[in-house]
Amino acid sequence: MSYSGQDTDVCIVGGGPAGLAAAIAARKKGFSVIVADGAAPPIDKSCGEGMMPETLAALESLGAKFEHGEGQNFRGISFIQESAHVSADFSREQGIGLRRPVLQGRLVERAEECGVQLLWNSPVTGIVGGVDAGSVQLPKRTIRARWIVGADGQGSRVRRWSGLNSLARVRQRYASRRHYRIKPWSSYMEIHWAGNIQAYVTPIGKEEVCVVVMAQAAKENLFESALREMPWLGEKLSGAQLGSRERGAVSSMRTLRHAQRHNVALVGDASGGVDAITGEGLRLAFQQAIALADAMAANDLTQYQRAHRKLAHRPRLMSHLMLWLGRNPRIRSRVIRVMQENPHLLSRLLATHTGEESASQLVSAGARLGLRLLAR
Ligand SMILES: Cc1cc2nc3c(=O)[nH]c(=O)nc-3n(C[C@H](O)[C@H](O)[C@H](O)COP(=O)(O)OP(=O)(O)OC[C@H]3O[C@@H](n4cnc5c(N)ncnc54)[C@H](O)[C@@H]3O)c2cc1C
Repeated sequence: MSYSGQDTDVCIVGGGPAGLAAAIAARKKGFSVIVADGAAPPIDKSCGEGMMPETLAALESLGAKFEHGEGQNFRGISFIQESAHVSADFSREQGIGLRRPVLQGRLVERAEECGVQLLWNSPVTGIVGGVDAGSVQLPKRTIRARWIVGADGQGSRVRRWSGLNSLARVRQRYASRRHYRIKPWSSYMEIHWAGNIQAYVTPIGKEEVCVVVMAQAAKENLFESALREMPWLGEKLSGAQLGSRERGAVSSMRTLRHAQRHNVALVGDASGGVDAITGEGLRLAFQQAIALADAMAANDLTQYQRAHRKLAHRPRLMSHLMLWLGRNPRIRSRVIRVMQENPHLLSRLLATHTGEESASQLVSAGARLGLRLLAR
């Protein structure tokens, strides 16, 4: 169904995970959808490549499927610092580690199957949003649409063009990703801590792991210095071949006042994000995409604004907690040791992280952890 005088109901800028998910969700509501991306598949990106059970549930509701043997399951999360080590399992489903181009390929297939029109190598150079309609400018074409969706990532230009950039709070960290050809040594997604640096390791295949290192300040040779500070991890990786070229990234935790204005809405990293260490970026993107389609079907983008705020609440809380642990090495050491002695505390934290427990239960688990810390 296309409104008269328009080329499409929905025009989406950006064909990354958020844009493709938004396209699929909108098609499922019966809207005509065009996606324009400046690049072309396979699109790779610096990412930890870990998808939590809730991320997979959202993907499944969009109808995206993986082939047997793609990616690698993981059963929970481990925190590791020197000799301290604590793990907790997801209570129901497992997570999956999957290379980004594979994830994107599956989303592209699903979008095509749903009838989404995909324009690759098509950078958007401007938009004109309005109260009722707008247009999206490509180098050789203008697309008139009822709704315009900015899914153009962290540095979103749609955010700027539509006036949604103002009053944003941003906290940035620096990251780098490598793939190593090595049999995963753990069935958990591991978060390693040392000083002000973290590394997380996701099993992504029978013979491959993805490693992301993160630090507060930009550093040359971030990977080498992280592995020097974490010799226990460096030893595991020594001698393993690299499976791709190293990719750097900035991880931003951005809070926007609004994710929608008139007929323009933002999804995924364009709409603000959480720190990469939470492994929640993809889940948020997929759940936002579904909420946005519901709001378009109700012809009320303010409904999306409310859903967006609610979805961001828990991951943001978790981001703050992880960043606080990252900045306070001495407290963190004690926290990990207390968790090692009381592994149910990490299980509770994980249950909150995956949405099985509420944010208030996180506060109560935090209080219990605080009491144990004081008792040490
Ligand atoms: C180091 C790191 C590790 C991470 N690890 C995890 C993890 O383990 N698990 C997890 O769930 N999340 C993780 N994340 C977060 C996750 O990667 C992001 O949330 C996710 O990529 C957001 O997808 P997106 O579609 O919003 O943006 P992107 O993936 O950035 O896609 C944006 C798309 O828009 C296109 N585009 C940009 N500008 C234009 C334009 N003008 N015209 C047309 N197209 C345009 C780009 O080509 C791109 O394809 C991590 C992030 C970082 C930085």
